Amino acid sequence: MQRLASTLAHIDGRGYKAYKALEGRYDFGDFTLLIDHVQGDPFAEPSRIRLCLNPAQSRLPDHSFANPSRRLALEDFLCRRLAATIQAETRGRRGSGRSGEVRIAPCGQEVLLRDAVVVQAGAVEARLGLALPAAGRRILAAEAHAMLLEELPRVVHQGLHYPSLDAKALNAHLGCLEDQHALRRWLHREGLVAFVANGALLPRRSGIDDRPLGEGAVPFEAPPSLARCVQLPHAGEVCGMAIAAGVTLVVGGGFHGKSTLLQALQRGVYDHIPGDGREQVVCEGSAVKIRAEDGRCVSRVNISGFIDNLPLGRDTRRFSTDNASGSTSQAANIMEAIACGCRTLLIDEDTSATNLMIRDRRMQQLVAPEQEPITPLIDRIRDLYRHHGVSSILVTGGSSAYLDVADRVLMLQQYRTLDATGQARALCGGTQPVGPDGPLPLDSVRQRLLAAPPEWATPTKGRAPKVQALDGGWLRLGEQRLDLGRVEQLVDAGQSRAVGHLLRCWLADVDPEAPVLTQLQAWISRLEEEGMTALSPFAPEPHGGLSLPRCYEVYAALNRLRCLAWR
Ligand code: ADP
Ligand code: MG
Repeated sequence: MQRLASTLAHIDGRGYKAYKALEGRYDFGDFTLLIDHVQGDPFAEPSRIRLCLNPAQSRLPDHSFANPSRRLALEDFLCRRLAATIQAETRGRRGSGRSGEVRIAPCGQEVLLRDAVVVQAGAVEARLGLALPAAGRRILAAEAHAMLLEELPRVVHQGLHYPSLDAKALNAHLGCLEDQHALRRWLHREGLVAFVANGALLPRRSGIDDRPLGEGAVPFEAPPSLARCVQLPHAGEVCGMAIAAGVTLVVGGGFHGKSTLLQALQRGVYDHIPGDGREQVVCEGSAVKIRAEDGRCVSRVNISGFIDNLPLGRDTRRFSTDNASGSTSQAANIMEAIACGCRTLLIDEDTSATNLMIRDRRMQQLVAPEQEPITPLIDRIRDLYRHHGVSSILVTGGSSAYLDVADRVLMLQQYRTLDATGQARALCGGTQPVGPDGPLPLDSVRQRLLAAPPEWATPTKGRAPKVQALDGGWLRLGEQRLDLGRVEQLVDAGQSRAVGHLLRCWLADVDPEAPVLTQLQAWISRLEEEGMTALSPFAPEPHGGLSLPRCYEVYAALNRLRCLAWR
């Protein structure tokens, strides 16, 4: 501490570069400050610092990190707590550019494995950005002194020191995560696809605010015929709607809550914080939201199960395009998801290509079968389940066609969910669901190999390609710009950034003989086990702004990279 104070006094008023002298390690008595990297100027990305507490300093009780669920919950809790304390205890802007800014990776409604706060056997390490203050480019040592030697100790004391934490809120956080993980294990054991607890609040505040809708939200209640109960370690008995494998249809009038239910399910592959309203809404972990995504590129995907006999004899067994249509993009999305191990497709008519979904009888009469390249999903959806074990949950309000092929039909009425399976069967004349038979050709995508890593991905003069998560779901990866805005299960910028770094690391060291998917899955398992420092461009120093994506989203990003040479 003394050393830090005297260095600051020494460099006061000098050019910004003199701040470099601060890099190093400082003992504050009740925590250690590491200044890993000092930014080049006050307008650059803030300097990277770490706050480290050993178990005696943090005084975290053993029970709070006694198993992986609790540890994840504890890290998430501390990260949110730290964000709130930074807000309360730091003054913010003080000087030119970003001077004075202190920040930690922002957390949304989901609990993800992040590298912002890491707990290891009671020791805590928090990774922050801190913009060292300057006037113009002259060092403001007094301001830096206030930030580093007054504000930071208060932030640590309020945010990371167990005796100042709200123990009740922490226990609720730990219990909530343990319950969600227990619920997921039960879902898996029972072979269910999804569960929505009674009382869950599904609607969100707005299209750009993911917090729960306050007033006017109608809590979820399961239709009696689909209700199941489960015993959770903390919440006790929880009852709700269980969705079994197979084809599930969600119908109902416009604006009655269909898409809201599906959106809750697509986010249900992740854990949620207490009070979110969806903390007991879980979907099996391999579920992928499928949508039309016109304009995306597609490289050598076998979409012939859906689209064949394209004009001019274009091959759809190895279909490539730089500019896919609605139907070809949605077909490719389905094939890629299944290749990656997806067992549940989540589809909303609002974001689907109509011609891939259905073709009605009159249109079948008007356009001769040999002139129509598309086999709509309705003719495939049962095969998908029968031959590949892939279930579907499908929102449709406009066409009755899917009633024939559904195992169950949920009807949303004034935001209430009813079981309309019986009524639907009656409309179909009591017939059991039928459909054409035959497996989909999956061959080519499952074992995909990369011919060679792209040139831009190999480090030049020891410099790795730059990764940057941009606004609007864009990811910059080297010289490529990737549109991930419609990969809907990427839920925060930290995940997109991690996707970018994972592809960067992997592409620099691809094994051309091993299937791409096997390699990506190995990466994800490694990150789950070891944490995310391996992805840091500053390794062995951590990044601080990464959160773990699923393999499906990493694979989705890879498939959207243009100019990859597949074998
Ligand atoms: P649909 O897909 O059936 O047309 P949406 O799911 O888009 O309908 O929902 C329409 C509106 O109703 C949205 O603004 C949504 O936030 C709101 N909403 C959805 N579910 C509920 C609910 N359970 N309680 C209150 N409002 C809801
Ligand atoms: Mg809708």
